[in-house]
Amino acid sequence: MAVIGGGMAGVSVAARASEHFQVTVLEAESQPGYHSSGRSAAVAIECYENEVVRSLTLPGIPYHRAHGARTIGCVSLADSDHLDMLDRFEAEWSPVSSSLEEMPVAEMLARVPILKSEAVARVLIERDALSLDAHALLESFRKALIETGGRIIGNARVAAIERSNGAWELTWADGSLSADVIVNAAGAWGDAVAELAGVPPLGLTPLRRSALLVDVGHDVSSWPLIHRIQGDLYFKPEAGLLMVSPADVTACSPCDAQPEELDIAIAVDRFQSMTNVTVSRLTRTWAGLRTFLADEIPGVGFDPQIDGFFWLVGQGGFGIQTAPYLSQVAALLLTGADHELAGSMNPGRFRPGAAAD
Ligand SMILES: Cc1cc2nc3c(=O)[nH]c(=O)nc-3n(C[C@H](O)[C@H](O)[C@H](O)COP(=O)(O)OP(=O)(O)OC[C@H]3O[C@@H](n4cnc5c(N)ncnc54)[C@H](O)[C@@H]3O)c2cc1C
Repeated sequence: MAVIGGGMAGVSVAARASEHFQVTVLEAESQPGYHSSGRSAAVAIECYENEVVRSLTLPGIPYHRAHGARTIGCVSLADSDHLDMLDRFEAEWSPVSSSLEEMPVAEMLARVPILKSEAVARVLIERDALSLDAHALLESFRKALIETGGRIIGNARVAAIERSNGAWELTWADGSLSADVIVNAAGAWGDAVAELAGVPPLGLTPLRRSALLVDVGHDVSSWPLIHRIQGDLYFKPEAGLLMVSPADVTACSPCDAQPEELDIAIAVDRFQSMTNVTVSRLTRTWAGLRTFLADEIPGVGFDPQIDGFFWLVGQGGFGIQTAPYLSQVAALLLTGADHELAGSMNPGRFRPGAAAD
């Protein structure tokens, strides 16, 4: 079996599948995790996106806890102009999450003293939200893969895929490999990889998101992730500093994403407008791609039209938090078994004539 893509998706499914198959991961870059998987905010949030994402996240929490995750909490806060948005968020998530609670405004202001009081009219906190260690997670899957006899080949950008006599022949600059099954875990490049194999695309949309690190001159280690309910800013502690993101969603082609000056300036402006911090120096800026399918549910399973072609794409902004369990589900589907989430994630739902749910 050949897994194309050595990000969180590819390495995690390879680790799980190598219990049943001989697996090789082909990664275009010299290191696994160079693209989206090395650029995330690394949090696991229950009240996020949709019920499928929630169902793919919660069973993986013990794995995260065993690999460097710690509880930080995720705050959704509204100023007096956006209380209706917080009401709608609460109506959607409080029936399903036992971790979502009201937090007194005074407690919020005491815990994160940089917040301006006018920025905080009401606060909800998901107490159990985790800050993850994405590097430790990826490393755990890489080690498990190697221990079960699998391998990762770096600098192997698959450039051609042919099918003959029931097997796939994959070629890159200085190598080739024959495999009975391909797992397409190429992230933003998922549709491009499918095209190489003559498989119709699913319509993946990569969206660029930017981030910066600032030193706010406080001990931030006990702060939660803070998310403005308008969905246009969040920040969280990161190695003694604050990671700040304008939560941008700019459509772009698959690429080595770089931050735009304007997005960083917008982040700084929004951050300063709700805190008493003046940002004078940025420690680091970066950007990465969050790649979605139209319904914001991953595409996971064998292609309905082309034999031996398995999709593992569309993990959007939740590919780290879902990795421990989604990789298990994907490995199960690779063995031909079924799973209760298989129908929702079936890649065939994007093909002409597929019945709408
Ligand atoms: C700013 C930001 C914040 C985020 N925050 C979170 C968060 O808090 N929690 C969370 O769960 N998720 C978060 N995400 C999303 C998460 O990072 C992604 O969902 C996840 O990393 C996707 O993993 P992947 O393996 O599919 O993609 P990638 O990590 O991009 O891996 C795909 C790999 O495929 C390789 N590849 C492509 N084409 C080929 C080819 N032809 N041959 C060989 N290899 C190829 C690429 O080189 C790449 O390494 C965030 C993302 C961003 C950008």
